[in-house]
Amino acid sequence: MEFRDLKAQYAALKPQIDEGIAEVIGSSSFISGGKVKLLEQKLAEFVGVKHCVSCASGTDALLMPLMAWGIGVGDAVFVPDFTFFATAEVVARLGATPVFVDIECDTYNMDPICLEKAIEKTITQKKLKPKAVIPVDLFGQPANYQKIEKITQEYNLLLLEDAAQGFGGAISGKRAGSFGNAAATSFFPAKPLGCYGDGGAIFTNDDTLEKYLRSLAVHGKGTDKYDNVIIGLNSRLDTVQAAILLPKLEALQNSELENINAAAKKYSELLDGCVVTPTIKAGYYSSWAQYSILLKDSAERQKVSDTLKTAGIPSNIYYRKPLHAQTAFAELACDDADYPVATEICGRVLSLPLHPYLDAKTIELICNTIKSAL
Ligand SMILES: *Cc1c(COP(=O)(O)O)cnc(C)c1O
Repeated sequence: MEFRDLKAQYAALKPQIDEGIAEVIGSSSFISGGKVKLLEQKLAEFVGVKHCVSCASGTDALLMPLMAWGIGVGDAVFVPDFTFFATAEVVARLGATPVFVDIECDTYNMDPICLEKAIEKTITQKKLKPKAVIPVDLFGQPANYQKIEKITQEYNLLLLEDAAQGFGGAISGKRAGSFGNAAATSFFPAKPLGCYGDGGAIFTNDDTLEKYLRSLAVHGKGTDKYDNVIIGLNSRLDTVQAAILLPKLEALQNSELENINAAAKKYSELLDGCVVTPTIKAGYYSSWAQYSILLKDSAERQKVSDTLKTAGIPSNIYYRKPLHAQTAFAELACDDADYPVATEICGRVLSLPLHPYLDAKTIELICNTIKSAL
């Protein structure tokens, strides 16, 4: 059994994907070009923003807006403590300091109350200047932007949405990728919208930012690639990846989001009362990057994952360590006691196989296996 069955998806979309790849190879135009432009238009339209700038990865999509905003040494950027490393890595990469914020105990997303406390503490300490907040749409559910946007406005901070897992999600019909001053997403193969390698995109309504990002992505180009006006990067989406993403975006809209939500609902019905199932708040729509349950403690989690493994069912732990406890951030000398929720969730969380092509029978088998372990 596959954890996220990309082979089943390819089997369903093979004619369109193969044709797109063949066209790119036939044209011998491998970087940027018409398909990348078309994809950017379709992505911007789907998300409901003015601009989409594609790039080489989700990590670059987070890095580039921070570069554009001049984030660097002495700046504080607030990130949730429970996320993939890249969310905080880009901050530290620019010499700025990630300030970790504990999470809500039901959605596992950045807790707005803890955010405000962390901002106040940073202001009082006078060592760092608060500059930006990067909430994460963890496991596919958008963060609480209503509350977070109020806070960023009050403290005059920039807001960068990390929608690497959230693409396809929404709050009251407003899509993930449309919150804040800019948003980043990832096309890593296992994400809700994945390509066949690395890729990413930035979304924004800010015309000036869009122009700057397009320059950054191509060695800080001015009038052309050989006129260099700022220090940039080489961060572009391959044309072949755009050819793969075009039919995949259509499938996501036409059936995949609906199917993955139906699969998640089935899991929650069958597991209700046995384990803690995911909470999707009223008005929120998840794209289900992961279906993550909570067990009583790490011993029970170990028992469940062992039983699943014996039955040939894969499971994964996202995430085993909160960011504040990562070795790379040891010099920040954070205290576990400041992050009680993230620390506890890391010890209890377990993600189950989930994708739009997962059938009800398989979900029943997985749930029965979990129940037999408990
Ligand atoms: C995957 C991921 C990223 C990084 O995306 P890449 O395309 O792998 O560089 C950033 N943030 C979160 C929350 C992610 O899940």
